[in-house]
Amino acid sequence: MERDLARRVEKLREEIRQHNHHYYVLARPAISDAEYDRLLRELQRLEAEHPDLVTPDSPTQRVGAPVSALAKVEHAEPMLSLENAFNETEVREWEESLRNYLKVESLDTDFAGEPKLDGVSVEVVYENGVLARASTRGDGWVGEDITHNVRAIQSVPLRLAGGRVPALLEVRGEAIMRKDAFQRLNRDLLEQGEEPFANPRNLAAGTLKQLDPAVAKERPLDIYFYGTGRSAGIEARTQRELLAWLGELGLRTNVEMTAFGGLDAMLAAYAGLEQRRNDLPVEIDGMVIKVDNLALRERLGTRARSPRWAVAVKFPAQQATTRVQDIVVQVGRLGTLTPVALLEPVEVGGVTVQRATLHNAEQIRKLDVRVGDRVFIERAGDVIPKVVAVVKESRRGGERPFTPPERCPACDTRVEQDEDAVALRCPNPRCPARVVAQVEHFVSRGGLDVEGIGPKLIEQLVARGLVEGVADLFCLDAASLIALERMGEKSAANLLAALERARQPALDRLLFALGIAGVGQTVAEVLAAHFSTLERLGAASAEELEAVKGIGPEAASQVRAWFAQEENQALLRDLAALGLRPRTAPASAGAKGGEFAGRTVLFTGTLAGLTRAEAEARVKEQGGRILKAVSRNLDLLVVGEDPGSKLKKARELGVRIMTEAEFLERIGD
Ligand SMILES: [Zn+2]
Repeated sequence: MERDLARRVEKLREEIRQHNHHYYVLARPAISDAEYDRLLRELQRLEAEHPDLVTPDSPTQRVGAPVSALAKVEHAEPMLSLENAFNETEVREWEESLRNYLKVESLDTDFAGEPKLDGVSVEVVYENGVLARASTRGDGWVGEDITHNVRAIQSVPLRLAGGRVPALLEVRGEAIMRKDAFQRLNRDLLEQGEEPFANPRNLAAGTLKQLDPAVAKERPLDIYFYGTGRSAGIEARTQRELLAWLGELGLRTNVEMTAFGGLDAMLAAYAGLEQRRNDLPVEIDGMVIKVDNLALRERLGTRARSPRWAVAVKFPAQQATTRVQDIVVQVGRLGTLTPVALLEPVEVGGVTVQRATLHNAEQIRKLDVRVGDRVFIERAGDVIPKVVAVVKESRRGGERPFTPPERCPACDTRVEQDEDAVALRCPNPRCPARVVAQVEHFVSRGGLDVEGIGPKLIEQLVARGLVEGVADLFCLDAASLIALERMGEKSAANLLAALERARQPALDRLLFALGIAGVGQTVAEVLAAHFSTLERLGAASAEELEAVKGIGPEAASQVRAWFAQEENQALLRDLAALGLRPRTAPASAGAKGGEFAGRTVLFTGTLAGLTRAEAEARVKEQGGRILKAVSRNLDLLVVGEDPGSKLKKARELGVRIMTEAEFLERIGD
């Protein structure tokens, strides 16, 4: 009976894996969604009834528990970067250098020409066919562990398919988001009044660095594989065979867009690719040409930082010309003034551009940009477009030079030169433009993540004097919100509820939200993990801060300086008085109402005194977090009757275990 059951479970998994492959990798579903759901539900039910049968490579186990930090991973074989070429001559010179190196008249090989995807390089390790680890490229030698997020990518198999599975496969590829998915996601964000992402690559990179894999599950990422690191049992003699074999193993490759042949064929393929680049479903920024013959690659070897046998042929940056309608000045949250060119809308590489950054007054002087000028703008695959040159021949005489403002356009305060003597800044801490930017940052996704409050609303709140600083957000009431434009009772109630939830932020999010110079998300996480309370962090000396791994001297002194300022101390007092209490990290848990503050908890077995949902709710009320599986990140396992395999695993990992009776006592029942 047990054996039959195990066989049924394994058969279901195999079927689901095959359907996943058809759906996500081949984009040719073999069954209807309803049939697929039925298989998945049956597997989920059997696994829930028999937790002992759950294995890490089961299709139900894609999304695991959040991790507390991204660990460092050393690559067994470094992930080298590629040498660049920018035109046909340089490609031919590269091929010539290979012949010279080998001292031969001609190379006895084809080439493989693969589109160069503009994404994030990753390495995924399969041990005996099972996904064991995934990491970012990092500096090429050491990357970050992103296993939890890569597992959540549906097109990446948790177990390799086919009969020729190698003992060890370190496979490399590019994680990307398709253009259509990116646009959909950004449209949703805009509708919710949130900041859209600059480009698919930033979105992919940001997603892979999330600590909670639930985010990666929500965002349709893909990985296209193109090569291997250290591996055992590779059955391929050429790149062509390698890609075909990776495909057989169930991995998605770029093979449908890859060209094979001599150097002339590569150059023709490159030209074709450049023409089609805007019509392709993914962002590409060039083509990688590789020696096809793997044995020849061995002989060619590597230089210090790049292999000899491959070259990245980059597309020229995409440019367009348009007219500067105006130059305005934007005030950032730290008061920095950034000139921005407002442009006649123009298409650059499939994107409509209406604004381009001019960085600072110095840059404007250097380019000599004037209002009314025709300019070249450039979009280098990504980020904010910039003005690169002025078409001086088309000047007609009426163009107006830009004069750096002497007063802040938002508050009329006299502006100051920044310390680096390049930028101008508004020194007024109450400047409405600065406050708007601060509030936007405070409620942003990396900050307190408050839903239902976008740039338009923040501008209104500041303009009407309802918000003069971030603390005022917590003083808003329904009546004043409803009086605003386009704000109904329901949205007002939703916003107030979201603000209520934001009163107990994780410490690292609060630190980021406060907008301390030098404190990005990573530094905030490091500081929160080390000091665990705002009080301890505030009391730390510059030396103590600098001693923390991951905090440099500059960040240390900026943090120190921030806490030393009276206006910031006043802000912290205000926030505390308004009920904002950052969640405490485990080291100092135990304050009132915080029995489980900062701790991760999981239940197993049947509880007698209360339902699972009630128990979980109590933990959350007291500041704890519920995990979905036993891992090293679990602080506490509460055991009811007939516990499953979780208990065994928790014991192995040394996780603290508590009976239901002890738990009830703890929560005060
Ligand atoms: Zn100002």
